[in-house]
Amino acid sequence: MPKVKKDEKGNATSIHPNYAKVRVMCACGNNFDTRSTHKGDIHVEICSACHPFFTGKQRLVDTAGRVERFRRKYAKADSQTAATAAK
Ligand SMILES: [Zn+2]
Repeated sequence: MPKVKKDEKGNATSIHPNYAKVRVMCACGNNFDTRSTHKGDIHVEICSACHPFFTGKQRLVDTAGRVERFRRKYAKADSQTAATAAK
């Protein structure tokens, strides 16, 4: 066993990471406090206030704009098909 530094109460001090209060901020605007060893604020894209599982609503979770890209891609393909069919 490695020697562990202890404070006057006998608690091991040196091996405890700094477990401090942090603020979690979500993309939906919700934010809350929690405790973490993470330094500084945490930014998340989805939280319990806006995740469909918790809201009970069917909602599209599209944080990276992937659906928009998909639509653009196939809208282009559709217009090309229509143009060839018109000829
Ligand atoms: Zn959220």
